[in-house]
Amino acid sequence: MRATVEVNLKAIANNISLIKSNTAAEILAVVKADAYGHGLVPVAKCAIASGATWLGVALLEEAQSLRESGITVPIISWLTPPGSDFKRAIELDIDLSIPSLRHLELIVAAGKALGKKPRVHIEVDTGMTRGGLLGEWEEFLIAIKGAEVDVIGFWSHFARADEPNESENISQMQEFEVRLTQLQGAGINPTHIHFANSAATLTNPSSHHNIVRLGISMYGLSPDVNTLGSSQTLELEPAMTLKAEVHLVKRVPAGSPVGYGATEITSRDTKLAIITMGYSDGIPRNTTNQAGVFVAGAKAPIIGRVSMDQFVVDLGPDSNAKAGDIAEVFGSLGYSIDDWAAAAGTINYEIVTRIASRVPRIYA
Ligand SMILES: *Cc1c(COP(=O)(O)O)cnc(C)c1O
Repeated sequence: MRATVEVNLKAIANNISLIKSNTAAEILAVVKADAYGHGLVPVAKCAIASGATWLGVALLEEAQSLRESGITVPIISWLTPPGSDFKRAIELDIDLSIPSLRHLELIVAAGKALGKKPRVHIEVDTGMTRGGLLGEWEEFLIAIKGAEVDVIGFWSHFARADEPNESENISQMQEFEVRLTQLQGAGINPTHIHFANSAATLTNPSSHHNIVRLGISMYGLSPDVNTLGSSQTLELEPAMTLKAEVHLVKRVPAGSPVGYGATEITSRDTKLAIITMGYSDGIPRNTTNQAGVFVAGAKAPIIGRVSMDQFVVDLGPDSNAKAGDIAEVFGSLGYSIDDWAAAAGTINYEIVTRIASRVPRIYA
């Protein structure tokens, strides 16, 4: 096995159960981006078996794959540019988000062409200034009256939920209430109100409404290790372990230049191992020295630049690692996902979602 992602579905189940026991809201499992790299369909099925009653994805293609796998729970797709195949979405009973007047028009037209009422969730921009209705709101309140859609939900998204003390969280919630009241004033009464992502679910019960949208926490990772603490602090169990096989082990003298650009020179006689993953597999290239692997019972840091398909680690002179050994790139033994994120100057979300599809996923 050259490289594998091992996904512990039991961990995902435990993470969902833990969060479910702390909220009265329904759980929407966010499985966009191939379930944050963990595998769309296996994770979606695990989440449903663990008590999630909704699924959320960015793309229609993702929602379509879920339906094709036989999943029947409600699925929301929230990133559907105007060129999307709305007819197909409506045919497949996929709930659509409405972030603009244009979307409302297109979705109504698609529903009419099919003779089927689309199920929609109205998305309001309450301060993140990304998706959702903002300047068109007044016009929208007129247009939505009598529109041929089934308004199931009303929702927004937090910009700073991972910084629970920031006042934007409160101002976004206030704006949300104002808009909901205005919508109800227009005679539209959505039954499913949702706002909270993982960070808000963990820190802000007043944001839960009827559904919480869980992404990163379901995968056992902290929404922000600096402000909310580690997985451990949050009692979450990371579900993903990344492993790769050692291609070669070689003994080299002090003064050996390693890798492209000879950016590092060995400072002592040592043993190096070539690990069979590289930046094309999603290993961040700027992690030299900062991250590494766990092999033959010890941590071994990266030395030199990460290449496309491989990188080199310094085993130290006394290691008994050998070619064919399986190194843990990240997991519970050596370097964590959060360690890799810190090394690459990014967030754990990016580390797990960037692991390439050429790395097979294995389920336990
Ligand atoms: C990705 C996403 C989530 C999940 O966010 P986490 O921080 O991973 O819990 C929730 N809602 C929307 C709209 C999203 O795009």
